[in-house]
Amino acid sequence: MKRVLTGIPVTAEIVRRFVAGETRDDLIRVAQTLLDSGRMVSVDFLGENTTDRAQADAMVAEYLSLINDLAALERSPRPGIEAPPVEVSVKLSALGQALPVDGPAIATENLRILCTKAAQADVWVTVDAEDHTTTDATLATVRELRREFPWLGAVVQSYLRRTERDCRELSGPGSRIRLCKGAYREPHEVAFQRAAEVTDSYLRCLEILLRGAGYPMVASHDPVPIAAAEDLAVETGRGPGRFELQMLYGIREAEQLRLVGAGYAVRVYVPYGSQWYGYLTRRLAERPANLTFFLRALVSK
Ligand code: FAD
Repeated sequence: MKRVLTGIPVTAEIVRRFVAGETRDDLIRVAQTLLDSGRMVSVDFLGENTTDRAQADAMVAEYLSLINDLAALERSPRPGIEAPPVEVSVKLSALGQALPVDGPAIATENLRILCTKAAQADVWVTVDAEDHTTTDATLATVRELRREFPWLGAVVQSYLRRTERDCRELSGPGSRIRLCKGAYREPHEVAFQRAAEVTDSYLRCLEILLRGAGYPMVASHDPVPIAAAEDLAVETGRGPGRFELQMLYGIREAEQLRLVGAGYAVRVYVPYGSQWYGYLTRRLAERPANLTFFLRALVSK
């Protein structure tokens, strides 16, 4: 697990703050610990931008084994929370969406295979949001498959100017939507650039989703949206079984546990696999303090 990130060698210790490990065994150990603590999990097998069919097929095979292993984990039910505690998150680019011939159709078919298996195993599936050029194709795939798998979730990003409109369309009964700020570098024409604008957009989208009829998944570490979600849940009478708070593995662990203690449904997004480079780059870019953490870990080696 060694590579170079922006000129600095990345040690296993740094990667492991944000990534459960390179193997499925590593992941399963971490997932069980999270479940034992009352948290739920959404697992991402790392890999994106598949360039050939064989890679997409390998991704499907790993996800099928993953769903199998996750289904065997011990679950600790919590009062009032009926959501399956185990979910997988998947990127359509990893399932072949960008392949030159029939990419979106191949990704849709691959996702159908995963959803069929997940439905048998009582595991949810949510489709991650990638860069804005993929948003229409990804939402079209989710819309199509929700006819067969109404619990299939999608992700929207509040930095995109279109997202408030998407939230209005996606806030109907049964719709499972994860709202995040967005992690890709996007142009001004399509995305808000200032942090305050992104947070304001997040709060507007949050209100639409929490006042709507679907199942919102509030994915943020930012205290402002989390407090707003708590307030809106009280105001709209949404109990812990009707929305989730979500955070990434390795970030704000104490806050995750506080929210569990307060009775909320909390899901942790846990990545694993050897292709951690792109994921880790986005995490380090989000917060300068992570770079300090990273350098401190290097010095102490
Ligand atoms: P920020 O404004 O970035 O952070 C607010 C505060 O949270 C910070 O001040 C700090 O206290 C803490 N914090 C935030 N990030 C870190 C960090 N890396 N390390 C330590 N502390 C931190 N993005 C996508 O584009 N597509 C997806 O499909 C997607 N799925 C996601 C799923 C989940 C469950 C989560 C939690 C995030 C997901 N993201 C996704 C990432 C998301 O878009 C943001 O990049 C990320 O969550 C940071 O935004 P924030 O809301 O936490 O707010």
